Amino acid sequence: MDAIANNADLLAAIDRPTQEEAEAAVRTLIRWAGDDPSREGLLDTPTRVAKAYRELFSGYEMASEDVLSRTFLDVAGYNEMVIVKDIRFHSHCEHHMVPFSGVAHVAYVPNNGVLGLSKMARLVDLYARRLQTQEAMTSQIAHSLDDSLRPKGVAVMIEAEHMCMAMRGIAKQGSKTLTTTFTGVFETSAADQARFIMLARG
Ligand SMILES: [Zn+2]
Repeated sequence: MDAIANNADLLAAIDRPTQEEAEAAVRTLIRWAGDDPSREGLLDTPTRVAKAYRELFSGYEMASEDVLSRTFLDVAGYNEMVIVKDIRFHSHCEHHMVPFSGVAHVAYVPNNGVLGLSKMARLVDLYARRLQTQEAMTSQIAHSLDDSLRPKGVAVMIEAEHMCMAMRGIAKQGSKTLTTTFTGVFETSAADQARFIMLARG
């Protein structure tokens, strides 16, 4: 279990500012951008931004154990790949705090239990609603699923567009970044890995 996944530790380690401090920081950034935080259209913006941040970064309030604690053991002998594809997510890159969004495809081969299908989407959200890199997010989703469910293998693929690439710097619009993490049978069996990629992208 990596350090970021352990949320109680993370939340205890940081010194959370008050709502007033957060709003003051937003006013500073508005001035940094070159605008006047006291003009009418911007008056309520710091309050809205502080509130929006709570939702956009609500992944810090949850731990993967909250999402994955219950497995459903009765699978009537089902032991083939379970794949949930095209799970839409929105995240923020930790380098620029600018959005990146796309889809995650998550698969596993059951060993002694399966998950409710909605849990896969919740797991993706839990890690997406933090400051992230796409690479770390892919690995975190795969390893938390692997650690808690102990399946025969996990495969995660994320396809995302990064606004920090589309909007600034080299301004490459429409380019997608693909990342994958494989564990267990998906790592050792080229056939399982190929089947996952075919199902995910097909
Ligand atoms: Zn970035």
